[in-house]
Amino acid sequence: MNLDFSPEEHAFRQDVRAFIDANLPAATRAKVMGDRPLEKADIVGWQRILNQRGWATPSWPKEYGGPGWNAVERYIFLDELHQGGAPEPLSFNVAMLGPVVIAYGTDDQKRRLLPRLANLDDWWCQGFSEPGAGSDLASLTCSARRDGDHYIVNGQKIWQGMGHWADWGFFLVRTDPDAPKKQAGITFLLIDMKSPGVSLSPIITLDGRHEVNSVFLDDVRVPIENRLGEENQGWTVAKHLLGNERTNIARVGVTKRILARARRAATATGLFSAPLFAARLARIEVALQAVETLQLRVLAAQIKDNRPDSRASILKLRSVEVRQAAGELLMEACGAQGLSFVRFEAGERPPFDEADEGWSASAVCFNLRAASIYGGASEVQRNILADTVLGLGR
Ligand SMILES: Cc1cc2nc3c(=O)[nH]c(=O)nc-3n(C[C@H](O)[C@H](O)[C@H](O)COP(=O)(O)OP(=O)(O)OC[C@H]3O[C@@H](n4cnc5c(N)ncnc54)[C@H](O)[C@@H]3O)c2cc1C
Repeated sequence: MNLDFSPEEHAFRQDVRAFIDANLPAATRAKVMGDRPLEKADIVGWQRILNQRGWATPSWPKEYGGPGWNAVERYIFLDELHQGGAPEPLSFNVAMLGPVVIAYGTDDQKRRLLPRLANLDDWWCQGFSEPGAGSDLASLTCSARRDGDHYIVNGQKIWQGMGHWADWGFFLVRTDPDAPKKQAGITFLLIDMKSPGVSLSPIITLDGRHEVNSVFLDDVRVPIENRLGEENQGWTVAKHLLGNERTNIARVGVTKRILARARRAATATGLFSAPLFAARLARIEVALQAVETLQLRVLAAQIKDNRPDSRASILKLRSVEVRQAAGELLMEACGAQGLSFVRFEAGERPPFDEADEGWSASAVCFNLRAASIYGGASEVQRNILADTVLGLGR
């Protein structure tokens, strides 16, 4: 198995890098590089620039407006975005909903939705999890009953990432509570977040930020043409979508960016010369190299067999552990100044550039705690590995 990039792939990387350098707004890059929160307009603006170039939908086939890249080209593109300080195209629109619209949508849905998803004309959120249905998603109870040419939806969803910015949401609802298997009675609905009866409540996470929400649905009327796929077949659509959610989850470029910040901060504070710190940094860098190699192996196998590789679970598990270790190192490197809530008195300065290395270190570290929960919790990944890779079938 050849894990080296070909000359064409190197040239492709240079093209992507040059495009980012020439077109990414400086303010957006500065926020991403310093892990400071982005505004909605930063993300929408950049996605539209990418869309003009035909690069907003890396995983879509050419016939639906995608660039027609293979898995390695997609990896290189995302790696360059991560290391170059550019936001990824909005994954709810592009990596999650777009591919299932292509696979299960009617011609009319494809025509209406795909161009708007690509251009981020509508911001979408994911309404899957419920207070009693996360890892065991098929236990969901949010209900939809038919009333003429509408569904009436009632229930609660939780953890909707950026739901407060969303125009629309894709939801899993239970349409047949008596189905013999819980997976069998679920339907995939597209819901206008401005519909009467939809309300949101913010959840402020440990990093002090508002990223996630609870969504309440109270007698929400949804036209049946907003159903994706057949009634009671939503689990098939959801499985396809969740498979895509785990693609490119390793985000090696993001971890590299965090480690570079930790190195700069530790150099500024003098911590870098402490032998234990340098040793920890080296250990994490080596672990990251192993993750990157695994990522390339998974990609190579994916291209050869044209299907997701079961080792993707190892990748999810291990890449998150390494990224979390990098986040902890960054926070340690910044010391007390890395705590978001530390304020400096007039005239007092942290030993590094506050805007770059400073206050957001704790936010990065705390935010990363969630990475071992979303996209399939670590314990669940271990179960998958036990079954599919180790063959320990329970
Ligand atoms: C920051 C963040 C953003 C999110 N964004 C979204 C979003 O946009 N839309 C959305 O729908 N959802 C979202 N989620 C929800 C996410 O998918 C769920 O949190 C996740 O599936 C875990 O479900 P849960 O929180 O109910 O925990 P649970 O499933 O209750 O798990 C609790 C603990 O038990 C462990 N566990 C569960 N089952 C098993 C098992 N079979 N064997 C061993 N251990 C097990 C888990 O690993 C975990 O440690 C988000 C979550 C977070 C934290």
